[in-house]
Amino acid sequence: MTSRCFLAVLLAAVPLMAQETPTEREAARQVLEKMAALEKSLDVPAFVRTLTAPSAERDRVTARVKELWDQDLQALSDDITRHPEIGFVEKRSVEKLTAYLKAHGFEVKMGGTGPASSLDTAFIATYKGAPGGPGLGVILEYDALRGTQRAFHGDQHSSQGPVGIAAAVAIAEYLARSKQPGNVIVIGTPGEEMMPPNAKTLMHQAGMFAGADILVRSHSSPATRRPAPGFGTCCMNIDGVKYIFSGAPSHQLQAWDGRNALEAVIHLFENIDSVRSNIRPEARIQGVITEGGAAPNVVPDRAVADFYIRYPDEVYLKQIREFTDNAARAAALSTGTKVKIDNYGQDRDGISVATLDEVGFAYMKMFGAGKVVPEPAKPQGYEETGSVSRDIPGAEFSSYSSNFPNHTYGMEADALIDVGHHGFLVDAQAMAAVLFDFATHPDYRAAVKREFTGIKELFGEYQEALRKTYRVPEVPEPK
Ligand SMILES: [Zn+2]
Repeated sequence: MTSRCFLAVLLAAVPLMAQETPTEREAARQVLEKMAALEKSLDVPAFVRTLTAPSAERDRVTARVKELWDQDLQALSDDITRHPEIGFVEKRSVEKLTAYLKAHGFEVKMGGTGPASSLDTAFIATYKGAPGGPGLGVILEYDALRGTQRAFHGDQHSSQGPVGIAAAVAIAEYLARSKQPGNVIVIGTPGEEMMPPNAKTLMHQAGMFAGADILVRSHSSPATRRPAPGFGTCCMNIDGVKYIFSGAPSHQLQAWDGRNALEAVIHLFENIDSVRSNIRPEARIQGVITEGGAAPNVVPDRAVADFYIRYPDEVYLKQIREFTDNAARAAALSTGTKVKIDNYGQDRDGISVATLDEVGFAYMKMFGAGKVVPEPAKPQGYEETGSVSRDIPGAEFSSYSSNFPNHTYGMEADALIDVGHHGFLVDAQAMAAVLFDFATHPDYRAAVKREFTGIKELFGEYQEALRKTYRVPEVPEPK
């Protein structure tokens, strides 16, 4: 056996896990055994076989997706790519997307509600079919990236609207002609690339995803892939925190009459550096100073540092926050300033289910996806915040749509040529096929629900195990 073969055998024997640290893997051992048993009992390969078998009715739906794409939606995707708008001001893009939905029988409600009422470019578009069926949810994103020269669609969110709409309209038309019960809910979610605010989390708190029994979305990708089942996130659990210091201004030559907020921010960075060695090494704590005074001859009376604090799990992340928040309090105390701690956003583990991801992956291959990665990626939710994907089962459709990495001008350019156009159509067709299966097979819906509920329960068990693991040392009073 060559060492390469040995490595391949070894990799096949080790389940792909979201657990990134030895401590997490130890805490997750029993949970992962139970998850493997759950997956085995679902027999996902059998669902893949039966659902992707020939079906005239499904083929009619996916042919309609292609028709809509070729007629209008590819052009709309190109148009949005050429008119990039950054998060929360995607007015033109949203106008075009909602106009198309209205013209195809959807009822559109603009703007967020409740906790999400500040989101002017959020929307919900609903097609109500016969009562008693599942809610088929499609998430759309449309914000561009903030570039140094200009806004740009380097993550191809410009295509997500047209892709999701092609699937949503085709499936709504199917429900209408077949009298199959069910609703289609298209949820427009602004500012994916920005926080604050965390748009999806606020919209979820406002109940804007209510009624959806499944949620799907597409996303650009340099390769065709899907996640393994389980809980996790692409990029660790994140707390976005602003430390806002206020001091008192005075002349530089009489600085004793003032209190220096910038010095407090500098202390904050130093205080955090001084405890890094007592924090587990997988943490990523990085901040920028967004406000640090206006002039060298005036003592800065306001300074702000903005941090992303990351850890592979949210349980230990809480302990890290105690370190960083205390570092800020200590900085304020020692400089005679005051600090406000604004935890403006958080991203958390989501849940991925094989019943949806494996069927979706098989369809992406069936519709001609390129650059297929055969091994599943680590488990992760289908949206970035984890808040929605841990409450409602769903899937992300990521077929190969660019020869460039995410967040590049190359990926934007690819949205306008064959590699992008083909990938988008694959996503739209695969998405419609999964929605069709979900709408028409109660046993499939039950399996998705059983897998999702099972993994969610195990996620709770895993977090409980972590809570027991991460002990805080006892520090005695000094004698
Ligand atoms: Zn993105």
